[in-house]
Amino acid sequence: MSLYQRALAVLPGGVNSPVRAFRGVSGEPVFVRSAQGAYLETEDGRRLIDYIGSYGPLIHGHRPSEVMAALERALRHGTTFGAPTAAEVELAELICSAFPAMDMVRLVNSGTEATMSTLRLARAATGRRRLIKLAGCYHGHADAFLVAAGSGAATLGVPSSPGVPETVTADTLVAPYNDLGTVETLLQSPGDVAAVIVEPVAGNMGLVPPESGYLEGLRELTRQYGSLLIFDEVMTGFRVDWGGVQTLSGVEPDLTTLGKVIGGGLPIGAYGGRRELMRQIAPAGPVYQAGTLSGNPLAVAAGMAALRLLEAERETIYPRLESASARLEAGLLEAAASRGVELRVQRQGSMVGIFFTGRQVRRLEDVDASDRERFARVFHRLLEASVHLPPSPYETLFVSTAHGDEEIDRTIQAFDRALEPEAG
Ligand SMILES: *Cc1c(COP(=O)(O)O)cnc(C)c1O
Repeated sequence: MSLYQRALAVLPGGVNSPVRAFRGVSGEPVFVRSAQGAYLETEDGRRLIDYIGSYGPLIHGHRPSEVMAALERALRHGTTFGAPTAAEVELAELICSAFPAMDMVRLVNSGTEATMSTLRLARAATGRRRLIKLAGCYHGHADAFLVAAGSGAATLGVPSSPGVPETVTADTLVAPYNDLGTVETLLQSPGDVAAVIVEPVAGNMGLVPPESGYLEGLRELTRQYGSLLIFDEVMTGFRVDWGGVQTLSGVEPDLTTLGKVIGGGLPIGAYGGRRELMRQIAPAGPVYQAGTLSGNPLAVAAGMAALRLLEAERETIYPRLESASARLEAGLLEAAASRGVELRVQRQGSMVGIFFTGRQVRRLEDVDASDRERFARVFHRLLEASVHLPPSPYETLFVSTAHGDEEIDRTIQAFDRALEPEAG
C-alpha cells in the first residue's frame, strides 16, 4: 500500500491542509522526507527544486544554519513554560521596531488565530458588527472569513464552506479586489462596518498587487466612515520587505497580522497595532484572547533567528531576492514568448504569480478566467523535471535566498520544455 493510500485512510484527503492534496492540479501529492536550502527530498528519493517554501515562511530556504542552531539552544532550556520569557519580549520589540503601524503585538500560534483575534478587537473597539473582505484574499479559516461573494458586485457574503452559519457570514460583506467604489458603497450601506481586512499584496489568488492608489483609498475611506483598516501581512510581513507592505506603500493600517516568516518555519502568528487599540486585549483590557502555547519558546527562537538574519543583511538580502526573482520572471516570460504561449507573471519581490492568460490579473475573476488546465499540465511536466511549484494556480511561488542562478536557470529550462506541444 502506498503512503498516500495509507494517508487517505486516516487523514481526510490524505493531508493536514487541503492544497497539499493536489486537487488543484489532480494526481497524487509528493511526500517529503527532508529538505535543505532550495531543495526538497522526497520519500522516493528524488531531489526537487522547491517553490512552495512551506507557503511563505522559508525566506532563507530550508534549514538555515542560524535558525537550526537557535532551535538547538532553545531545546536545551525547555519546550514550553506557560510563563513569560525574555525571548518573547525581544521578538515583540523587533516586530514593533520593524512595522510602523505596530506599537504593541500579541503572539499567537497561526495566521488564522491572528486574523480572527483582530476581528474581535475591531468589533470591540468600534462597537460595530460588520466586516468587509475582498474576494480572493485569504485570512485563515475562521468562520467570519469563509465567505464568498454572492451574485452581483457588491453583496452580502454567503458561506464558502458547509458548517459556517449564515448568521456569521451575514456580517461579512465582500467586495472585489482593486475596487474602491464597491467598498465605499458597502461602508455607506448597509454600513456598521467595524473593519476592512485586506491582503495589501494579495498572495492567495496567485499574486495580485494593489493598483496605484488602492491602499491609500482604503485608508481614506475607512477613516472617513469610522472603520478600522486591517492589513493581513501574514504572508507579506518581512517577505516583501523588512516592515512589510505598510513600509513599501507608506500606508499605515490600524491593525496588522503576521505569521509565516516570523516563525522561522515553526508555528506562529501575531497581531498588533496602535497602543490604545492593543491595550484593549486581555489582561490589559477586556477583549479576551489566550493561548496555551502562544509565544512558544521554540517558535520564538526560530523566528527570532530568522528575523535577526534578515535584519543583519537586509541591505543585501532583499535586493538579492529581488534579482533572483526578476531573473525567474524574465526567463519564464521569454520561454513563453518563444513558444507562443500567453503568460502573465505578476510579482512583488520574491512572491511570484504565474497565470496562463494574455490579460492583466486584477482580481479573482481574472484568475478564474486564466487557463488553469494548462497550469496543471505545466505543473506536472515541471514536477517530472524535478521542479515543485505550489500545486494550484491560486498559490504564489516563493523564492528564497537559497535559490541561486543555478536553480533559477534550471527552472527556466524545465519551464521552456514544459511548454513544448504534447507529442502525438
Ligand atoms: C497563510 C495565511 C493566513 C493563515 O495563516 P495560518 O498560519 O495558515 O493559519 C492568513 N492570512 C494570509 C494572508 C495568509 O497568507
